[in-house]
Amino acid sequence: MTAAPSPRPEILGIHPYVAGESTVAGVNRTIKLSSNEGAFGVPPGAKMAIAAVTDEVFRYPDGATPTLREALGKRWGLDPARIVCGAGSDDLIYQFCLAYGGPGREIVMSAHGFTIYNIAGTYAGSKVVKVPERDMCADLDAMLAAVSAATRLVFIANPNNPTGSIVGTEALARFRARLPAHVLLVIDSAYAEYVTHADYDAGIALVNATDNTVMTRTFSKVFGLGGMRIGWCYAPPAVVDVLNRVRGPFNVSVAAQAAAVAALAEPGWVEMGKAHNTKYRQVLTDGLRAAGIVVWPSEGNFVMADFGTENRANAADAFLRGRGIIVRKIGGYGLPHCLRITVGPTEDVAAVVDGLTAFVQS
Ligand SMILES: *Cc1c(COP(=O)(O)O)cnc(C)c1O
Repeated sequence: MTAAPSPRPEILGIHPYVAGESTVAGVNRTIKLSSNEGAFGVPPGAKMAIAAVTDEVFRYPDGATPTLREALGKRWGLDPARIVCGAGSDDLIYQFCLAYGGPGREIVMSAHGFTIYNIAGTYAGSKVVKVPERDMCADLDAMLAAVSAATRLVFIANPNNPTGSIVGTEALARFRARLPAHVLLVIDSAYAEYVTHADYDAGIALVNATDNTVMTRTFSKVFGLGGMRIGWCYAPPAVVDVLNRVRGPFNVSVAAQAAAVAALAEPGWVEMGKAHNTKYRQVLTDGLRAAGIVVWPSEGNFVMADFGTENRANAADAFLRGRGIIVRKIGGYGLPHCLRITVGPTEDVAAVVDGLTAFVQS
């Protein structure tokens, strides 16, 4: 009898993360609206910065990312000593789960929250508790009720992917105040730059006011650097200390650090991305609703279209693919009857509205 190497049993219960697809067989030019990437590509200054470091990449990066943390601190008025960078915010989410979770330690998330919390939490050996939502919004009372003495981490994406919903500033502060002190609250503000609702704070005030709250941010969305893998968090000193013990010592590459610093310095970049998104998120929403499709309100750079049944959502997806348009199925988020559609460049928004209008009429 041969014994094969085997992971802990829960590992094989993890469904691999399904990334947004980028090609359709037989179609030359595809329109990719499946991964919530920024609508304007790479900031020009970041392209130059990447080119400028090519001769340096034989050297290891400075794992402490001092220049980038300094630039982040300046932009948001934060103490750079309380910032930790990662290979995307996913990297930091994994580190939170591995360091604060683990066997016998539970993690609470909302039912349609970002799936990386479930994957990373399960990987860490934690039981991940998914709490049902109300009208596609995190139900904070129900999440509090799901917290037990074993809970160590609570994740809230704000805005949430894929639903697009937000939790208001006061509601989140009250939630934090009612959580036990031993629970680390992770506020994932990957889409903060796109929010237009007045009742919103990305989490900085709450991190400042408590010693058990962290905020994660990313360069993968409005900053246009998803392929570089760079994100960061703002955290209390004790959490920063933990992350610096456990993270990969060279987790952010030379090129990623240079690109991020340049992206922060790109004049008008975030303003341009937000202005486009504000306008075309509405155009997309209105266009789909005019075609009779239910669209949930969104504060992100994507909308969630609700087709009522899984069959109809799959048919809509197949119809769009026939036109070379790729959107995101979200059955893995417990929403098989919905599709998530990124607010892309102007002509791509028009193409997906035309495509789904034709689908409804077909
Ligand atoms: C896209 C996204 C991220 C960003 O992940 P990176 O690893 O930084 O690319 C984080 N959280 C949510 C909810 C997201 O949708």
